[in-house]
Amino acid sequence: MTVKSVVWHDGSVCRADRNLMNRHKSGLLLLTGLSAAGKSTIARGVEKELFRMRARAYVLDGDNLRHGINNDLGFSRENRKESLRRMSEISKLFVDAGIVVLAAFIAPYREDRDFIRSCFDKESFFEVYVKCSIEECKRRDPKGQYKKALAGIISNYTGISSPYEEPEDPDLAVNTETSDLKQSVEAVIGFLKKKGLLTLGDGKFILPESVG
Ligand code: ADP
Repeated sequence: MTVKSVVWHDGSVCRADRNLMNRHKSGLLLLTGLSAAGKSTIARGVEKELFRMRARAYVLDGDNLRHGINNDLGFSRENRKESLRRMSEISKLFVDAGIVVLAAFIAPYREDRDFIRSCFDKESFFEVYVKCSIEECKRRDPKGQYKKALAGIISNYTGISSPYEEPEDPDLAVNTETSDLKQSVEAVIGFLKKKGLLTLGDGKFILPESVG
Protein backbone atom coordinates (compact mmCIF):
# COMPACT_ATOMS: atom_id res chain seq x y z
CA MET A 1 0.00 0.00 0.00
CA THR A 2 1.36 3.44 -0.92
CA VAL A 3 0.26 6.40 1.18
CA LYS A 4 -0.24 9.06 -1.50
CA SER A 5 -0.49 12.03 0.87
CA VAL A 6 2.97 11.37 2.35
CA VAL A 7 5.79 13.12 0.52
CA TRP A 8 9.36 11.79 0.38
CA HIS A 9 11.79 14.12 2.19
CA ASP A 10 15.36 14.17 0.88
CA GLY A 11 18.21 14.87 3.27
CA SER A 12 21.12 17.16 2.50
CA VAL A 13 23.62 14.31 2.97
CA CYS A 14 23.24 11.74 0.21
CA ARG A 15 24.49 8.22 -0.44
CA ALA A 16 27.34 9.50 -2.63
CA ASP A 17 28.53 11.72 0.25
CA ARG A 18 28.48 8.79 2.64
CA ASN A 19 30.27 6.56 0.13
CA LEU A 20 32.93 9.24 -0.20
CA MET A 21 33.37 9.52 3.55
CA ASN A 22 33.53 5.73 3.91
CA ARG A 23 35.91 5.50 0.94
CA HIS A 24 33.92 2.65 -0.57
CA LYS A 25 30.56 2.14 -2.26
CA SER A 26 27.53 0.44 -0.77
CA GLY A 27 25.32 -2.35 -2.10
CA LEU A 28 23.37 -5.49 -1.38
CA LEU A 29 24.69 -9.01 -1.79
CA LEU A 30 21.94 -11.60 -1.54
CA LEU A 31 23.37 -14.95 -0.51
CA THR A 32 20.80 -17.52 -1.58
CA GLY A 33 20.86 -21.30 -1.21
CA LEU A 34 19.50 -24.26 0.71
CA SER A 35 19.44 -24.27 4.48
CA ALA A 36 22.88 -25.38 5.76
CA ALA A 37 24.52 -24.51 2.42
CA GLY A 38 26.74 -22.04 4.30
CA LYS A 39 25.09 -18.64 3.62
CA SER A 40 25.32 -17.29 7.18
CA THR A 41 28.80 -18.68 7.78
CA ILE A 42 30.12 -17.08 4.59
CA ALA A 43 28.26 -13.79 5.23
CA ARG A 44 29.82 -13.57 8.71
CA GLY A 45 33.25 -14.36 7.27
CA VAL A 46 32.91 -11.64 4.64
CA GLU A 47 31.62 -9.16 7.23
CA LYS A 48 34.64 -9.85 9.43
CA GLU A 49 37.05 -9.44 6.55
CA LEU A 50 35.42 -6.17 5.43
CA PHE A 51 35.52 -4.89 9.02
CA ARG A 52 39.21 -5.73 9.13
CA MET A 53 39.59 -3.71 5.92
CA ARG A 54 37.77 -0.81 7.62
CA ALA A 55 34.75 -1.10 5.29
CA ARG A 56 31.24 -0.77 6.63
CA ALA A 57 29.33 -4.02 6.27
CA TYR A 58 26.39 -5.65 8.00
CA VAL A 59 24.79 -9.09 7.89
CA LEU A 60 21.03 -9.40 7.60
CA ASP A 61 20.34 -13.00 8.51
CA GLY A 62 16.97 -14.47 7.52
CA ASP A 63 16.71 -16.53 10.71
CA ASN A 64 17.63 -13.57 12.94
CA LEU A 65 15.12 -11.25 11.30
CA ARG A 66 12.44 -13.80 12.12
CA HIS A 67 13.08 -13.04 15.81
CA GLY A 68 12.10 -9.39 15.29
CA ILE A 69 10.76 -7.58 12.25
CA ASN A 70 9.59 -10.84 10.62
CA ASN A 71 8.29 -12.56 13.77
CA ASP A 72 4.74 -12.47 12.45
CA LEU A 73 5.65 -14.47 9.33
CA GLY A 74 5.77 -18.21 8.67
CA PHE A 75 7.02 -20.13 5.65
CA SER A 76 4.04 -20.05 3.28
CA ARG A 77 4.62 -18.76 -0.25
CA GLU A 78 3.11 -15.37 0.64
CA ASN A 79 5.01 -15.06 3.93
CA ARG A 80 8.34 -15.85 2.28
CA LYS A 81 7.64 -13.15 -0.29
CA GLU A 82 6.80 -10.63 2.46
CA SER A 83 9.90 -11.56 4.45
CA LEU A 84 12.06 -10.78 1.41
CA ARG A 85 10.18 -7.59 0.62
CA ARG A 86 10.94 -6.33 4.12
CA MET A 87 14.57 -7.39 3.85
CA SER A 88 14.76 -5.52 0.54
CA GLU A 89 13.30 -2.35 2.08
CA ILE A 90 15.67 -2.53 5.06
CA SER A 91 18.56 -3.08 2.66
CA LYS A 92 17.58 -0.01 0.62
CA LEU A 93 17.97 2.09 3.78
CA PHE A 94 21.28 0.45 4.68
CA VAL A 95 22.62 0.92 1.16
CA ASP A 96 21.57 4.58 1.26
CA ALA A 97 23.36 4.77 4.62
CA GLY A 98 26.57 3.64 2.88
CA ILE A 99 26.75 0.04 4.07
CA VAL A 100 27.63 -3.18 2.24
CA VAL A 101 24.72 -5.47 3.16
CA LEU A 102 25.24 -9.22 3.23
CA ALA A 103 21.78 -10.78 3.27
CA ALA A 104 21.74 -14.50 4.06
CA PHE A 105 18.31 -15.74 3.03
CA ILE A 106 17.19 -19.02 1.43
CA ALA A 107 15.10 -16.92 -1.03
CA PRO A 108 13.96 -20.07 -2.85
CA TYR A 109 11.82 -18.43 -5.54
CA ARG A 110 13.24 -16.78 -8.65
CA GLU A 111 10.33 -14.36 -8.74
CA ASP A 112 11.25 -13.01 -5.27
CA ARG A 113 14.95 -12.74 -6.08
CA ASP A 114 14.11 -10.91 -9.31
CA PHE A 115 11.84 -8.58 -7.35
CA ILE A 116 14.71 -7.68 -4.99
CA ARG A 117 16.96 -7.05 -7.99
CA SER A 118 14.33 -4.72 -9.45
CA CYS A 119 14.49 -2.57 -6.28
CA PHE A 120 18.16 -1.64 -6.87
CA ASP A 121 20.26 -0.21 -9.68
CA LYS A 122 22.51 -2.73 -11.38
CA GLU A 123 25.69 -1.54 -9.62
CA SER A 124 24.09 -2.05 -6.20
CA PHE A 125 22.60 -5.56 -6.21
CA PHE A 126 24.32 -8.91 -6.68
CA GLU A 127 22.99 -12.45 -6.37
CA VAL A 128 25.43 -14.91 -4.83
CA TYR A 129 24.45 -18.56 -5.14
CA VAL A 130 25.78 -20.56 -2.20
CA LYS A 131 25.63 -23.96 -3.82
CA CYS A 132 25.53 -27.23 -1.93
CA SER A 133 23.71 -30.47 -2.71
CA ILE A 134 20.65 -31.38 -0.67
CA GLU A 135 22.41 -34.62 0.37
CA GLU A 136 25.32 -32.67 1.90
CA CYS A 137 22.95 -30.15 3.54
CA LYS A 138 21.02 -33.03 5.11
CA ARG A 139 24.29 -34.53 6.31
CA ARG A 140 25.44 -31.21 7.87
CA ASP A 141 22.05 -30.39 9.39
CA PRO A 142 23.60 -28.00 11.99
CA LYS A 143 20.26 -27.19 13.63
CA GLY A 144 18.64 -30.62 13.31
CA GLN A 145 15.94 -29.14 11.10
CA TYR A 146 16.27 -31.48 8.12
CA LYS A 147 15.70 -34.38 10.51
CA LYS A 148 12.53 -32.71 11.77
CA ALA A 149 11.38 -31.82 8.23
CA LEU A 150 11.94 -35.41 7.05
CA ALA A 151 9.95 -36.66 10.04
CA GLY A 152 7.12 -34.26 9.11
CA ILE A 153 7.51 -32.22 12.32
CA ILE A 154 8.37 -29.06 10.33
CA SER A 155 6.34 -28.32 7.20
CA ASN A 156 7.15 -26.21 4.13
CA TYR A 157 10.85 -26.95 4.55
CA THR A 158 12.92 -25.91 1.52
CA GLY A 159 14.42 -28.87 -0.31
CA ILE A 160 12.14 -31.35 1.48
CA SER A 161 8.55 -30.18 1.35
CA SER A 162 8.98 -26.84 -0.44
CA PRO A 163 10.87 -26.08 -3.66
CA TYR A 164 14.22 -24.36 -4.18
CA GLU A 165 14.56 -22.80 -7.62
CA GLU A 166 18.27 -22.71 -8.44
CA PRO A 167 19.61 -19.38 -9.73
CA GLU A 168 20.05 -19.67 -13.50
CA ASP A 169 22.50 -16.82 -13.91
CA PRO A 170 23.83 -15.71 -10.51
CA ASP A 171 26.39 -12.88 -10.37
CA LEU A 172 28.62 -15.22 -8.38
CA ALA A 173 28.39 -18.88 -7.34
CA VAL A 174 30.38 -20.50 -4.55
CA ASN A 175 30.25 -24.26 -4.08
CA THR A 176 30.71 -25.11 -0.41
CA GLU A 177 31.31 -28.79 -1.15
CA THR A 178 34.37 -28.05 -3.25
CA SER A 179 35.59 -24.80 -1.58
CA ASP A 180 36.32 -24.33 2.10
CA LEU A 181 35.13 -21.30 4.04
CA LYS A 182 38.32 -19.30 3.46
CA GLN A 183 38.13 -19.84 -0.31
CA SER A 184 34.46 -18.82 -0.40
CA VAL A 185 35.12 -15.64 1.62
CA GLU A 186 38.04 -14.78 -0.69
CA ALA A 187 35.82 -15.35 -3.72
CA VAL A 188 33.21 -12.90 -2.40
CA ILE A 189 35.81 -10.27 -1.46
CA GLY A 190 37.43 -10.66 -4.90
CA PHE A 191 34.02 -10.27 -6.50
CA LEU A 192 33.32 -7.04 -4.54
CA LYS A 193 36.67 -5.65 -5.68
CA LYS A 194 35.99 -6.61 -9.29
CA LYS A 195 32.58 -4.96 -9.20
CA GLY A 196 34.13 -1.76 -7.87
CA LEU A 197 32.35 -1.68 -4.51
CA LEU A 198 35.60 -1.26 -2.66
CA THR A 199 36.83 1.50 -4.92
CA LEU A 200 35.74 5.02 -5.66
CA GLY A 201 35.48 6.68 -9.05
CA ASP A 202 38.99 6.40 -10.39
CA GLY A 203 38.93 2.60 -10.07
CA LYS A 204 41.86 2.59 -7.66
CA PHE A 205 41.60 0.12 -4.81
CA ILE A 206 41.70 2.50 -1.88
CA LEU A 207 41.19 0.30 1.14
CA PRO A 208 44.26 -1.22 2.75
CA GLU A 209 44.57 -4.89 1.73
CA SER A 210 45.30 -5.79 5.30
CA VAL A 211 45.29 -3.84 8.53
CA GLY A 212 46.44 -6.76 10.65
P1 ADP B 1 22.85 -21.48 6.03
O1 ADP B 1 23.00 -20.06 6.51
O2 ADP B 1 23.02 -21.61 4.55
O3 ADP B 1 21.61 -22.14 6.52
P2 ADP B 1 24.92 -22.06 7.92
O4 ADP B 1 26.04 -21.13 7.56
O5 ADP B 1 24.04 -21.68 9.07
O6 ADP B 1 24.06 -22.34 6.61
O7 ADP B 1 25.48 -23.51 8.21
C1 ADP B 1 26.38 -24.14 7.33
C2 ADP B 1 27.08 -25.24 8.08
O8 ADP B 1 27.97 -25.91 7.16
C3 ADP B 1 27.93 -24.71 9.22
O9 ADP B 1 27.87 -25.63 10.29
C4 ADP B 1 29.33 -24.67 8.60
O10 ADP B 1 30.34 -24.81 9.56
C5 ADP B 1 29.29 -25.89 7.68
N1 ADP B 1 30.20 -25.82 6.53
C6 ADP B 1 30.96 -26.86 6.11
N2 ADP B 1 31.69 -26.53 5.03
C7 ADP B 1 31.40 -25.23 4.77
C8 ADP B 1 31.86 -24.29 3.77
N3 ADP B 1 32.75 -24.65 2.83
N4 ADP B 1 31.33 -23.05 3.77
C9 ADP B 1 30.43 -22.70 4.70
N5 ADP B 1 29.96 -23.52 5.67
C10 ADP B 1 30.44 -24.78 5.71
